[in-house]
Amino acid sequence: MIIKKLPPIFEPARPVLQKIEDAGFEAYFVGGCVRDTILGDQIHDIDIATSAYPSEIKTIFKRTVDTGIEHGTVMILDHGTGYETTTFRTESGYQDYRRPDKVTFVRSLAEDLKRRDFTINALALRENGEVVDLFDGLGDLKKRLIRAVGDPNERFNEDALRMMRAVRFASKLDFVIDAPTLAGIKHNAHLLDKIAVERTRVEFEKLLLGQNPPAGLKDFLETGLYKYCPELANAKDQLSALLVNGNGWHLQNTNQVWGLMCVQLGLDGNAVNAFLKKWKTSNDTIKQVKEIVTAVNAFRHHELTATALFAAGWDVLNDANQVAAIYGWQEPTDQLKTSYDRLPIKSSKELAVDGRMLIKQAGIKPGPMLGKIIQQLTQEVVTGQLENQADRLLSRAIELEQEEG
Ligand code: ATP
Ligand code: MG
Repeated sequence: MIIKKLPPIFEPARPVLQKIEDAGFEAYFVGGCVRDTILGDQIHDIDIATSAYPSEIKTIFKRTVDTGIEHGTVMILDHGTGYETTTFRTESGYQDYRRPDKVTFVRSLAEDLKRRDFTINALALRENGEVVDLFDGLGDLKKRLIRAVGDPNERFNEDALRMMRAVRFASKLDFVIDAPTLAGIKHNAHLLDKIAVERTRVEFEKLLLGQNPPAGLKDFLETGLYKYCPELANAKDQLSALLVNGNGWHLQNTNQVWGLMCVQLGLDGNAVNAFLKKWKTSNDTIKQVKEIVTAVNAFRHHELTATALFAAGWDVLNDANQVAAIYGWQEPTDQLKTSYDRLPIKSSKELAVDGRMLIKQAGIKPGPMLGKIIQQLTQEVVTGQLENQADRLLSRAIELEQEEG
């Protein structure tokens, strides 16, 4: 197969490959960018593989950076943007079911393609548009099939993360996993235990952000992979319930992914904390997901009061609405936006008084009481009980202090 016109993202990189070829080596675009080109999908980054060793790349190009030289990766800076090239390699060892013990640089493209996970990811593309397909990846792209390169059993034993990658691609591309490959995942699912949670998490997030999350999720459940993910071992029924909703999935970011998971598992407050700690997400994610879950519950119970809208803020409301949509609890976006825009203030910073004014002009003492008063004023302004006007706020503050004190 020859691709006559490569997508524009390849153009500026073509001279880099030409220069490597002119020096007597081979160079190809490889991996996801080739797959996505043939599928006509959006390409987000390009990977280049070459027969030249890192030291040879460094003699061909003046400006390079050793970004991962022990794995054979060098970044070439000569052509404006940085391009990472990786020397053809084979991997061996894998005694721990994850990273190889040993990486060996080789001159043969075939050896490099053989170590790749799936046939659709083992295509190579020359700078002139010629596609190299040693494992019928093109046929599988046509059939929309995810098939391991070589013996699935062996390949998942080498690197157990590949099983999560399979179910993620099933969703991301809306492909079917080939039967022997699926059987290989079932057989080896327990090896996922050996993989760092962070790496499993990335694949799981990509699964739920793919084109067909229910398809990927179904494979994730049927193969038993879920049993080896944090806090999901007993959640098969709850997760299966997600497969039958007919409302469509349009999750847009990882906060929404985790918001959905928590809602589906019935978690809120500290339980969200404990769950996400196990998945090793950032503290920032935990904080935002908690807010999303609270907001989704407000959608669910039709309790989107001014206070709830204000507490959430627009970004959280938008994320929550996206999650709510999976259950049919959403609000039309423009309606939600109108309700939000109608709030008298969006933050306590918009109050017509600040702490300094309250101290100076209302005689409130600095300290915890001041914070409480600001909170109460905010609440009353948000709910329309109090006009956001300095004099009103000051006299209300004095009243509140007397009540409290
Ligand atoms: P994406 O579009 O999500 O980036 P991708 O196919 O480019 O998909 P990457 O994780 O960027 O995925 O990996 C690039 C390529 O490296 C893959 O296409 C595949 O050929 C190879 N690869 C990545 N991870 C593995 C793995 N665990 N085992 C074997 N090959 C892998
Ligand atoms: Mg990629």
